[in-house]
Formats: sequence, C-alpha cells, structure tokens
Amino acid sequence: MSGLTSGRVFNVQRYSLHDGPGIRTTVFLKGCPARCLWCHNPESQSFGPEVVRVDSRCIECGTCQEVCPHGAPDPGSGVCTACGACIEACPAGAREMVGRETTVDEVMAEVLRDRVFFQESGGGVTFSGGEPLAQLRFLRALLEAARGHDLHTAVDTCGFGPREEILGLVPLVDLFLFDLKLADDARHREFTGLPTEPILENLQALSRAHRSLWIRVPIIPGHTDGEADLAALAEIVAGLSGVRRVSLLPYHRTGVDKARRLGRPSSLQSLAPPSPERMEALAVVFRERGLQVSLGA
Ligand code: SF4
Ligand code: SF4
Repeated sequence: MSGLTSGRVFNVQRYSLHDGPGIRTTVFLKGCPARCLWCHNPESQSFGPEVVRVDSRCIECGTCQEVCPHGAPDPGSGVCTACGACIEACPAGAREMVGRETTVDEVMAEVLRDRVFFQESGGGVTFSGGEPLAQLRFLRALLEAARGHDLHTAVDTCGFGPREEILGLVPLVDLFLFDLKLADDARHREFTGLPTEPILENLQALSRAHRSLWIRVPIIPGHTDGEADLAALAEIVAGLSGVRRVSLLPYHRTGVDKARRLGRPSSLQSLAPPSPERMEALAVVFRERGLQVSLGA
C-alpha cells in the first residue's frame, strides 16, 4: 500500500507512557462504531472533522457569528459544516478543528521524530482511536510503514470489526491492547451501543493467533465495576492464551468537559472516579485467577 494512502486522525501524542511498553507515539484515528457513555475521547467518535468551542477562551466578540454563513451555531447543533471560517477569524483561539485528513507518509514523518526515544526505551508506535479498525485500509498501511521502519507496533482496539481482517493484521502488530467492558450483552449494548458477542469471539480468535495481548478494562462506577461482572470477564480472560496482563483503568472526568465543548451533554455529569482502595479490591478479582494486573495503565 502507498505512503499516500490517507485517513482521518484527530491527535498524535508524543511521549506516551501508557499505550504499550517504553516511550511511544500514539496516533489517534478518528471515528468509532461504539458510543460508550464514559468515552474519554468523545471528539473521536464521529468520522468527520468537528469544530469545538473552548468557552474559557471566548471573549464574546461576535466575530464568529459575522463570518459564519450559519451564524456560528452551537457545537453539536448539526448545522455546522466544519468549513473552518470561524476558526481563522476568532481572535482568541477559542474555536478549534478536531480531525484532519492525512497520509501515511505525513503520520510516519511525525512518528519518526522520536525514533531515538523508542530505541532507548523499548517503545514504538501505538494506533488508537476512536477505533482504528474502523479505518482498516489506512491502519494496515500505517502498520506496514511502521514495520518498514522496524518500529514496535501496538493497536488499541475495542475488538469490534470483521474477524478475518483483524486476523490479517496479526503479522504487522507486536501488541494488541484489547478493551473489554462487560460480558453481559444487554448492558453492553445499553452502555456502548454494541453487542458483546462478536467482540468476545474476536478476542478468542485473536488470542489463538497472537501471543501478546494486554486486556484493558475501564472501571466505571455503577456501570462496569460490579464484582460479578468483573468476575465474568476475569473467567473469560483467564481461559485465553496470549494474555500478558490486564490493566484496570479508573474512570476519569476528562470526557465530560470534552463532551461539553462538542455540545453533547454527558449522562455521567456527576459521576466520581473510583477510589484507589476500590481499584485495589477489584484487582483481586483478576489476580486470584492468576492474571497479572496493573492499575491505571
Ligand atoms: S466551521 Fe464554518 S459552519 Fe461551522 S461554525 Fe465555523 S464558520 Fe460556521
Ligand atoms: S470569534 Fe472567538 S472569541 Fe469571538 S465570540 Fe466567537 S468564539 Fe468567542
């Protein structure tokens, strides 16, 4: 595939320490089939570019309303066409575009800036999202390019996608970070918008085909933190080969603020993160089944 293959990216984060071993650059692909209530990157969900407004910077000058053909509608109104005119005109930098079309060559040029850190730390590049599997052609081209530069590669996925295509990526990926939320199908659908069965079947297939999986479980109070629910996940994970560790990720509130900037009210407005003691107690559910557990990464 060509270095000119293009796709949509909304962030490239350098010096990442939590998306695989060593120092990494994490490339966030835009667009996701899931709608997790607790999503900490709500700006990643839609496939197209979006305009956000940072209210704390706005000086209420009204310039955006003058330049916008639609009167600068509120983010999330569905009226904005993401033309970018208001971003150019805003004197306070209060409007930002999230998401851009870019090529494999452009992404790799950014990633390779930190190659020396990857080599010294045992790091590499991680492709995350959004859901990177939702842009399979672009993801494959990125992985091939990273392989061509001999970089350690990781893919962070919710596991929802066509099985044969996922398995086709196995030779290009050194580590899969596989997110698991709930085994219960009804509540998985309610909280994420996706069925659980194809995800668990993909996990089973991937664990047979790949020797290096990290499972990541978001701990969302009142949603995914029931001990019976976690025991059900732990039973599934303990039965897989290839799982190197389980990370329990405590809920944090950054997604709430981001959702507000996008004009999307969050139903978890007042939800507090779990305490360190609660996280430790939940880790036991996995550890007592022989799994290596880390908290927060
Ligand atoms: S991006 Fe364009 S359409 Fe959207 S609010 Fe700004 S000027 Fe209006
Ligand atoms: S142009 Fe910028 S600073 Fe002025 S009202 Fe619009 S968002 Fe606020």
